[in-house]
Amino acid sequence: MILIGLHLFGENVNKFEEELADYVGSEHAAALSAGTAAIHMAFKALAIKKGDIVFCSDLTFSATVNPIIYENATPVFIDSEKDTWNMDPKALEKAFEKYPCPKAVIVVHLYGTPAKIEEIKEICDKHNVPLVEDAAESVGATYNNKQTGTFGKYGIYSFNGNKIITTSGGGMLVSRDEEKIAKVRFWATQAREKARHYEHKEIGYNYRMSNIVAGIGRGQLKVLDERIEEKTKIYNTYKKEFEKIEDIRMQPIPKNTKPNHWLSVITLKENSKIKPIDIMEALEKENIESRPVWKPMHLQPIFEKYDFIKVLDKPVSEKLFESGVCLPSDTKMTNEEQEKVIEIIKDLWK
Ligand SMILES: *Cc1c(COP(=O)(O)O)cnc(C)c1O
Repeated sequence: MILIGLHLFGENVNKFEEELADYVGSEHAAALSAGTAAIHMAFKALAIKKGDIVFCSDLTFSATVNPIIYENATPVFIDSEKDTWNMDPKALEKAFEKYPCPKAVIVVHLYGTPAKIEEIKEICDKHNVPLVEDAAESVGATYNNKQTGTFGKYGIYSFNGNKIITTSGGGMLVSRDEEKIAKVRFWATQAREKARHYEHKEIGYNYRMSNIVAGIGRGQLKVLDERIEEKTKIYNTYKKEFEKIEDIRMQPIPKNTKPNHWLSVITLKENSKIKPIDIMEALEKENIESRPVWKPMHLQPIFEKYDFIKVLDKPVSEKLFESGVCLPSDTKMTNEEQEKVIEIIKDLWK
């Protein structure tokens, strides 16, 4: 075959879609340029438009929210609960009382720890509202042995440079809805109609994953289980070493869940004399990176005009933001390096 030279071959893209869908136990997948693009396409597939309300986890990265705004819809932020740090089913119920007809719910599995997804799914089903799972951080994590991202109508994953597996940049949308996934592939490749010439009836996006990136993704998928094991070991080491420091709590592992432990995160007790900033500064002095927990969306200048639903006076998301520290969790970190991190932190209590 002699080609004009404009074609992109997608063998790896197709294979990566199949292999990822197979791994997570979803039926169909569309490989995209980013997790954010996957969230955007999920909202397009749900026909979310101007004026629609979307319930959204409050404690997350802004990429969960931005696509709601791309479609001129209105986010309503839902507070976290303390068991998983994710969307509180009670606050979600409360949101339904105030806004009975949202167009969708998007829930995040923070730092790789599954939300109370079955409860959340049940609430959404009861109200007949589609659920989207932002599993950008939780690739490979399970709830009752079922992969995060496969409970709702749509699930999204990210393979950005900082995630548990990475293609440098990339994302995936999964669903049981074959037709909608095909539609997303169409939108993501500039909405080119089937015609000899270039024919457009809809607005398209340049969101498709490239074949080279998909090739990397296929390789990454093979090391995912191993990486989860390494991340779990890092988490368990911190847990064991900090057991004797009363002020430190690890992000809890909820019943029936297997987190991927993308990041090991601690919180400090309210009355602890050592504050998160002390830990971050002590580590920084030794050139060791750490971060605060995500700043809640309802506190972000760009989003503070939107409604926020909570059940407790003091929002759980705010408490986590004020008391949390994300610790070094890189799988390239050596045992000695992790010991050093632990020693620096323990020394603060001496
Ligand atoms: C990283 C991330 C995203 C976005 O994924 P990209 O691939 O970087 O676009 C969305 N949501 C959460 C919670 C994330 O951590």
